[in-house]
Amino acid sequence: MCGIVGIRDAGGVSFSLYYALYALQHRGQESAGISTFDGSRLYKHKGQGLVADVFDSSILESLEGTVGIGHVRYPTTGANRPENAQPFNFAHRDHILSIAHNGNLVNSRELREEYESQGQLFCSTTDTEIIAKVITEEMCKSGCIEDAVHRCMRILKGSYSVVMMIDGVLIGFRDPLGIKPLCIGKTEQGLIIASESVAIDALGGRFLRDVAPGEMICIDDQGMRSTQIAVAQRRAHCIFEYIYFARADAILDGALVYDVRLKIGGKLFEEAPVPADSVCTVPDSGTAYAIGYSERSKIPYVESLLKNRYMGRTFIMATQTERELAVRIKLNPIKSHLDNKSIVLVDDSIVRGTTSRRIIGIMRDAGAREIHMRIGSPPIKAPCYLGVDMPTREELIASDKAMDEVRKRITATSLHHISIEALVEAIGIDRSNLCTGCLSGCYPVEISGEESSSPDIDYLDGTFQTRLESFGS
Ligand code: AMP
Repeated sequence: MCGIVGIRDAGGVSFSLYYALYALQHRGQESAGISTFDGSRLYKHKGQGLVADVFDSSILESLEGTVGIGHVRYPTTGANRPENAQPFNFAHRDHILSIAHNGNLVNSRELREEYESQGQLFCSTTDTEIIAKVITEEMCKSGCIEDAVHRCMRILKGSYSVVMMIDGVLIGFRDPLGIKPLCIGKTEQGLIIASESVAIDALGGRFLRDVAPGEMICIDDQGMRSTQIAVAQRRAHCIFEYIYFARADAILDGALVYDVRLKIGGKLFEEAPVPADSVCTVPDSGTAYAIGYSERSKIPYVESLLKNRYMGRTFIMATQTERELAVRIKLNPIKSHLDNKSIVLVDDSIVRGTTSRRIIGIMRDAGAREIHMRIGSPPIKAPCYLGVDMPTREELIASDKAMDEVRKRITATSLHHISIEALVEAIGIDRSNLCTGCLSGCYPVEISGEESSSPDIDYLDGTFQTRLESFGS
């Protein structure tokens, strides 16, 4: 997971990067960082914690320049350590490189071993540093950024949306399958590349388009250049971005996530109707789904679990009793909405099953008579190797259990998961262009010991077609 952003703006970038990262905070809460460039010097600041904890206005004022990149981190590869906070900054001969990455490489171990056997040093355990090594190595040989990104696309296996800054030129690229999102927007005096369109909205900017899979974007004094580096037979957009990860107000590869979730809610009713007194969301991840179920069923949407919005991830829960307590502090039931009522409870997904079980327990304690659980994703059966922090098969409740056994474990009266067909229809992207690895156990890149069906990729060697794009003011 992780959120990335790059901005070039004549009016300065540090505050804009800060607001954009704030809008992307849901993509990572472990660390945040910004690097900026003023034409000769690099300025940087990063630290562990939330965006608001890592930066203050004096820090932002010290980050000078009209181009910069930022990152919020959610660890998938690389431990929770200060040295893994991004962006990473490197000096090489007369050049300054700053880089931030969202995604997960499945061949990072091999690549790392190869570099280490050549005597290269690493100062972190992230994939991002490996990408930086590939880029600098090729830049050293040819001096050409297209060649460097081309080499990345040939040798990196997995998911990668990248923003980087080389001597003040802002560059963004997306892996040939477009697994993780990346989009482009226009601000009053500049351009922005970000993981989700919500970062563009936060700056009052205009969404232009998604970065195409296999495309590289360069933004400099001349404007924006686009180069298609590789073309895959099909795409593999992460389906879990639509289910849970992206913000509901984001537009991802042409689909507004809120609308997708609303449609899924309606389809959940069509697939598994049930008479009930009210439809209740598990806030906030289930909300659009629950509204969709309520609209379609005409069963009233009633909030019966209230979320404490000040409950951060920093709440430390050492014992089981404390963990139980934490759920109650996070979600408080409204007894009069639940007492002796039959409730349709809607959430986005069940992963380990512990959240659903606890929430149903709280609702039963508050007097709920029946709890019909409706889930906006099919059962999650397999781990993710491509950037979503999912547990192993052993920990995934649905990996080896039939639906009725899961229902018993979470103590629901009834349980229904949306079918993959309905989910795909709601997203509006052909199933062959989605990564459904966590649902099907079949991945779009080769992963040792797993089933895969990877598309052919055409690497456009030496025939880069570069287009200059202009967007007016
Ligand atoms: P559980 O079944 O207890 O593992 O929790 C599942 C809930 O956690 C889902 O309803 C989501 O809202 C949320 N969730 C799903 N995937 C993730 C993830 N990769 N990281 C954090 N939270 C998640």
